Amino acid sequence: MKTRSLRTKLLFQYLALVLICMVVIPALISLQIHKQFYKYSSEKLTEDEQQIISLVEKSLVAGNNDGKNFQGEMLNWPVTRFTVTNKEGQSLFTVKHTPRKVAPNQAERDKQIEKLLTVQKFALHSANKEKIGEITFYIVPFKISREGRFMQVFQRDMYAGVAVMLLFAVIFAMFMTRKIVRPLLKTAEQAKKISEGSYIAEKHEQSDIKEIQMLLDSVDRLGTELAEQEELRKRLMSDIAHELRNPVTVVKAQLEAFADGVWEPTAERLQLTLTEIDRLSLLIKEVEGLTTLAKGYETLSISVTDLSQLTKKSALSFEPLFKNKGVELKLDIEEGLELAIDPARIRQAVENLVSNALRYTDKGGSVKVSLARSDKRVTLSVADTGIGMAKEELPHIFERFYRTDKSRTRASGGMGIGLAIVKAIIEAHGATITAQSEEGKGSCFTVTFQTKE
Ligand code: ADP
Repeated sequence: MKTRSLRTKLLFQYLALVLICMVVIPALISLQIHKQFYKYSSEKLTEDEQQIISLVEKSLVAGNNDGKNFQGEMLNWPVTRFTVTNKEGQSLFTVKHTPRKVAPNQAERDKQIEKLLTVQKFALHSANKEKIGEITFYIVPFKISREGRFMQVFQRDMYAGVAVMLLFAVIFAMFMTRKIVRPLLKTAEQAKKISEGSYIAEKHEQSDIKEIQMLLDSVDRLGTELAEQEELRKRLMSDIAHELRNPVTVVKAQLEAFADGVWEPTAERLQLTLTEIDRLSLLIKEVEGLTTLAKGYETLSISVTDLSQLTKKSALSFEPLFKNKGVELKLDIEEGLELAIDPARIRQAVENLVSNALRYTDKGGSVKVSLARSDKRVTLSVADTGIGMAKEELPHIFERFYRTDKSRTRASGGMGIGLAIVKAIIEAHGATITAQSEEGKGSCFTVTFQTKE
């Protein structure tokens, strides 16, 4: 398809509109005025002619054949003169229009007009309809009549006005199209830069046109989001590399020690190596799990499940661990809440939340798992009285491999991937997860499912 720049298109459309408004409409008006004027002057001419005819008829019937009682002042333009003949065709008299003001070149003008005059002949009758002669009018055509000349001046002035307005319209159209096209071009440039990898624009373009401003904002947001994604991707790569490095180094060192004979490969020592390898495979499994979950809802196997039972079972499976650590586990679960979910995945999410709560709560503390329905929502929450998190850390905890400063220093810390998995599972279900926390006081994670009824 042939493409034209928006600027050319807008300019053409704008000018087409202006042309229609400023040329076609005045042309129609002028045509109408011309028509009305022409009609009016023809009617007036006929009236004048009829008046003269009846006067001449009366005069001839009365026997005055010399035209003495007709003066030139009687005649109005466009009638310049009339001649009267008797019924035999002999000329009786001619009456000429006498101009009120005689122009210096009157003779010359009369000569020129003479060539253009139109002639109209009428028969003259007596009262009893008998033909008594003929009258011939010599008439100035409409074009050079007073009315015709008025029309010409009117049209000339009107079109001069239109030309000036057109010029203004062109300047205005150019200004307007520039105003629209400029930010669009800038946006296109910015989008191109984004595709080339420089995401953040140096200058944020502004437009007073709402739709263009929306587009500018979207492109800006796109750039910012891509920059964030890029940053996250880089961090993810370096985090994975970092997480892999530790166990690999340890396993390598241990295997080298066995190979060099420095270390006896006792069952106990081999178990240590196996633990590291387990850690590695767990990490690989979790990264794999994250990738599948990123594909969303389609990867879930959904069935209507008793969420109350599921939550209770998941929490209770931790009971021995809670007992060992001396942390109290409290349950407040509304019975019989059924939802369409992937039970294995939701169980994984609940267990992650409960295991985190236990991990970050010291002896003597408590963890409360609650499930309740209100209106069109089912809310599952895991609240603990543990170490809590700093306000500035809260927004990051769902990111992959993020661990708060406190948890890094703890021997019990995980790999920082658990919450990222929980969030991916919850969001794949179309639900939401939020966290509230106060440092030193505890944390509360809340999952909200929307139900249809
Ligand atoms: P990890 O495997 O390190 O626990 P998560 O993704 O599960 O990773 O959690 C990320 C970080 O969020 C943790 O390192 C920890 O700092 C913080 N966190 C998660 N749950 C809690 C909690 N219940 N109390 C305090 N901090 C928590």
